[in-house]
Parts: sequence; C-alpha cells; structure tokens
Amino acid sequence: MNRNIDRAAARKRRRNIGVILRLVLCPPLGLYLMWTRTRWPRLVKIGASALVAFVIVLILTPMTDPPARQTGGVRVVGDHLQVEMLGPEAPADRESIDVYTPRRTAIIVETSPTPQPVIVYCNTGGQYYHNKDCQWVKSTTPSVTLTQAIRAGYNPCPECGAPDPAS
Ligand SMILES: [Zn+2]
Repeated sequence: MNRNIDRAAARKRRRNIGVILRLVLCPPLGLYLMWTRTRWPRLVKIGASALVAFVIVLILTPMTDPPARQTGGVRVVGDHLQVEMLGPEAPADRESIDVYTPRRTAIIVETSPTPQPVIVYCNTGGQYYHNKDCQWVKSTTPSVTLTQAIRAGYNPCPECGAPDPAS
C-alpha cells in the first residue's frame, strides 16, 4: 500500500517535472499539459500562465517596436566649423568673403546711331573732292560719299576745307 502510494507520488512528481520542463522549453505545450494533466492549485496555474505570457511579450516586444527613425543631415555642434576648409586663403584684410547672391540685372544695349555718310562733291575729271558750298561745286557736280571719293583717288580740296580722314 505504502509502496503504491510512493509509486504514484513518484509518477506524479515525474509528470510535474515534465510539465515544468515543457513550460520552459515549449510554453504553449507546457500550458496545455499543465491545465489538462496536473492538479495544481488554480492560482499556480494562472500564475504560470501569466508568467509565460509575460515572457512571450518580453521576447516579442523588441521586434514589434517601430524602428528608430534615422537622423540625417548636419548636426550643428557650435558656432565654429569643426572641419578645416580647403581652398584659397581669404585676403588678410577680410574676415569673411561675401557670398555671391544673384541679382536681377538688366542689360541695357544702347544702339549707336547709324553714322550718316559724309557727302562730298567731285567734278568729273577733277582731282579734289569738295564741300557743298565750295566755289567749284555746281548744280551738275555729282555727289558721292567721302569713302567713295577717296577710293576713286580724289584728294580733299585745299580751298573749301573738305574733310580729310588722313589728318
Ligand atoms: Zn573745294
């Protein structure tokens, strides 16, 4: 009789150890066995269930946390630059160089007036070209431009002061 009780107690102990092992190694199976196969006090079962749930939540929590937002850009750590700027040195008399800021500019183009050609008068067969009021100019004297007269070999008249580009 005593031996049977001992055997039953031993069997019960082994089963309890098995359930506890499964609770640790495989919580869902352990919980199932604990609630169906053991006669533990209800408070113990609820406590073990809560403990298992707590551990599962603890394990899953880091995975369900939203990923930390990456910070990017430049972090201002002070008023002065922490890096050495490479480039041409600034003039000693200037502590800072103005930053180029584009401005709205207008380009004004002044049209130069078309030069009026200088008109001179050349008599056919003569060697001079004349101003209009020269005594050698008649109503029949042809008028040409100064450039044309010079190209044709005429020289400025010494009497009327005809324009002379060479002088
Ligand atoms: Zn003349």
